[in-house]
Amino acid sequence: MQNKSIPRRSFLKQTSLGVAGAAGAASFGSALAGVAKGGRPAILGGKPAFTGQWIKWPIWNPETDEDRVIEVLRSGVWSRAGVVAEFEKKWAETIGTKRALATTNGTHALIIALRMLGIGPGDEVLTTPYTFIATIDAILMNNAMPIFVDVDPETFQMDPDKIEEKITPQTRAILPVHILGLPSDMERIMAIARKHNLIVVEDACQAWLAEINHKKMGTFGHAGCFSFQNSKNLPIGEGGAIVSDDDDFMDRAFSFHNFGRPYGNMVGDVSGQYVMVGTKTRMTEYQAAIGLAQLQRLEEQTERRNRNATYLKSQIKDIPGILPYRLYDHVTRAAYHLFPFRYKQEQFAGMSREQFLKALQAEGIPCSGGYTPLNNMPYLKDALSSRAFQIIYPKEKLDFNKYVEENQCPANDQLCAEAVWLPQNVLLGSKKDMDAIAEAIDKIHRHAAEIKQKA
Ligand SMILES: *Cc1c(COP(=O)(O)O)cnc(C)c1O
Repeated sequence: MQNKSIPRRSFLKQTSLGVAGAAGAASFGSALAGVAKGGRPAILGGKPAFTGQWIKWPIWNPETDEDRVIEVLRSGVWSRAGVVAEFEKKWAETIGTKRALATTNGTHALIIALRMLGIGPGDEVLTTPYTFIATIDAILMNNAMPIFVDVDPETFQMDPDKIEEKITPQTRAILPVHILGLPSDMERIMAIARKHNLIVVEDACQAWLAEINHKKMGTFGHAGCFSFQNSKNLPIGEGGAIVSDDDDFMDRAFSFHNFGRPYGNMVGDVSGQYVMVGTKTRMTEYQAAIGLAQLQRLEEQTERRNRNATYLKSQIKDIPGILPYRLYDHVTRAAYHLFPFRYKQEQFAGMSREQFLKALQAEGIPCSGGYTPLNNMPYLKDALSSRAFQIIYPKEKLDFNKYVEENQCPANDQLCAEAVWLPQNVLLGSKKDMDAIAEAIDKIHRHAAEIKQKA
């Protein structure tokens, strides 16, 4: 870890290391440091560090984006057909899998992937508590039991060191989530899965184009699932996809998402019959047309987010009390659906995270505190007391208090209390915009005691 007592880089740039070292952490708020950067925090009546406009999300360029959508609308072919197939082909090519199946949303992609891999009643699925609720719902909707593995707060991801202690004879699968668009440690997770013969479904719903060793997220496990919801880095409004190299699995997933009608290997000689239990979660043609337009921008935007995130991280990492995310060693690219850091209030004169967020927002920087722990909420009680669970699981597995006790994740509790997120559209700004963010955080740090007192 970096030495947190070293003053920030602008201070280092202007002084000799010796002076900086002698000055120490106490002089971080010195007049000299104040000269280098902005004046008073906006929340104390100063000028906001950022006064421009962040890029509005989603991006839509009528000139380049609308022809295809209008063509689809005028064709009257709105249900799944050629445009969806084209989007699937492009998505599979982009991710580097043999196949992709477009779905109504990422939640259904997850539900279907688990189900088509045979995950269901009686099975335990290991996952992370630091995620969006849809991850856990996908397990519960298959009447499987979510088991929470605590996080590594430095990376914000499921901690590979804590997986094996959670494996029981009932464990069937691991559902890692590349949360915030930062890759989970898939090399280690896959090694553990192979050792214990477990299925892996990747929740890549925030990890479009993220990579480990130039291999994309969603291609490590047996299946990967994506979301194209409006806030996501590839926004369609609603939409999702399953990717895999397994033709048999993908044929089953296709059939399931289309009422159980025959498809691919599922055809046999029975076309016109329904060959399996199914549902309908098909993407529409106009969704796919929007997706094709958005896909053209994704590569350049991802590159830009990586550039800006790396730069911003370098600019704030030496501010005491600001601990930016760590990427695993082999990560060659992240998606940065969010830019996260941990906020240590001890180094901000005891100012609460809520005060910090308010002060940062006053500087014109959008930010939030992110997720709250998912491993002890009422929806789990609802699942455990459901009729299906009562029939499937032994009584001792359905005691809510016992379940919560066994699924405690103290590192995640702390992470949820300390996290600060900047949204992905901020990372589409200029280098100067990143400097404004760093300046804002630095100003708040230097005036922390005063801001705290004011509240
Ligand atoms: C968005 C999201 C989902 C669900 O995707 P939808 O398209 O909104 O259904 C699942 N998991 C994670 C981590 C997500 O961020």
